[in-house]
Amino acid sequence: MSMKERTHQLSSFNRYLNKGFALRQHAAAMRDARHDPEISPSSVFLALFHSFVFRLPSFQQLDRELKHSHLVDWIGAERPFGDDTLRYSLCGFHLEPLEAMLVDVNRRLKRGKAFHHGRVQGRLVAALDGIEVVSSLSRCCESCLSRQIKRRENGRMVEQTQYYHRAVGCQMVHSQVRSFLAIEWLRPGENEVGAALRLLRRLPELYGSRFFDILLLDALYAQSQVLDLVRQKGWDAVISLKQNCPELYRSAMRLFARRPADASLTERRDHKTYQCQIWDTEALPLADGAHCLRVVRSEEVLQRNRYRQGEVESYLTNHEWLWMTTLPAAVFSAIVVRRLGHDRWRNENNGWMDLTKHWAFKHGFLHACRHRPQGEDEQGRRRLVPNHGLAAVIWIALIAFTLSAAFVLRHSKLARIQELSMLAVADQLLAWIWKPSPSIRSPG
Ligand SMILES: [Zn+2]
Repeated sequence: MSMKERTHQLSSFNRYLNKGFALRQHAAAMRDARHDPEISPSSVFLALFHSFVFRLPSFQQLDRELKHSHLVDWIGAERPFGDDTLRYSLCGFHLEPLEAMLVDVNRRLKRGKAFHHGRVQGRLVAALDGIEVVSSLSRCCESCLSRQIKRRENGRMVEQTQYYHRAVGCQMVHSQVRSFLAIEWLRPGENEVGAALRLLRRLPELYGSRFFDILLLDALYAQSQVLDLVRQKGWDAVISLKQNCPELYRSAMRLFARRPADASLTERRDHKTYQCQIWDTEALPLADGAHCLRVVRSEEVLQRNRYRQGEVESYLTNHEWLWMTTLPAAVFSAIVVRRLGHDRWRNENNGWMDLTKHWAFKHGFLHACRHRPQGEDEQGRRRLVPNHGLAAVIWIALIAFTLSAAFVLRHSKLARIQELSMLAVADQLLAWIWKPSPSIRSPG
């Protein structure tokens, strides 16, 4: 086997993305607020896109690779450029072409049946999740959220204002490629439910209402206005229930206490064994009485092994889970609802985490950046353009995350045969930027 066949090639990665997802056309549609720039928004987009694909940890490293490697040629940029150009362009980046690209990528994935595998009773499943992207005690911008926090300083507790950005994202789950469909940023003074409602209203505008069928939601969203919207758009919901619905919780518990479990099951996963007793009720009213929902409860004994003084010993812990759902019992048994609910929970351990772990999102890059282009406001006055830096970077990260997952999990035979992780493939692709790009070696 030759070298070429044993490793993933950057040229075949780019070919796959150009052919399957129109990467080049989408890149050409990118816009920013600079006037007649020498380095196009397309080059800025492709540089940052590839840095996420390669899992470079920071702008500083991207800056180094742009100066010292052949990356500039691989992405077809006008000439070498650096960190300052990236930041100046991204601060005034237009978000619409980025969103349009993510929507198009997801539509293509769906047409290619990427979300087909892992459907639940033939239905596609998505989840809503909140995430914090940046927090800072010193820097803030016009769209920052803020809160008071207490922290220890020289042995004393001091109260301080912390600035942060938070978003709600909708992500496909169950499928191999767990792509994000859209995100909405919380606005100052707005809570997470407000942003979630905006997101849920926009999804059908972007994708049509039946892009997915079932929505997994956190306890936070167990509210009539969310359920109204979910039903109005034709989705079903599974909502994990915690102590935030005490009345519903108490009436469910009263019902369940009187009778034996409706189902039981033993599940083994990752060296863990779950013994579950599952109860299922007819509709119970939500606090305000506007919605009646089926409630499923699972009492679980989890058995794990641990090492104590060189000996394996197994130990048990007890867990309780409750979910509310609009799904009919005739099609979705309590066991299926439990599985859906647990998947929602597992979802917190990937996706956003994968994405943010490798980038220093906490360090506030681009956040509160004052160096950005000027534009005219409604009165014709010269003003700094609104800062889109953080939002643009997150969009590009989401697109890169989805497309590299599609390449590794759906396209690459090599990754399957050699059981390579996403990170291992990223390393192989990165190695190519130290070789001249094929387009330079053979023009045209
Ligand atoms: Zn801010």
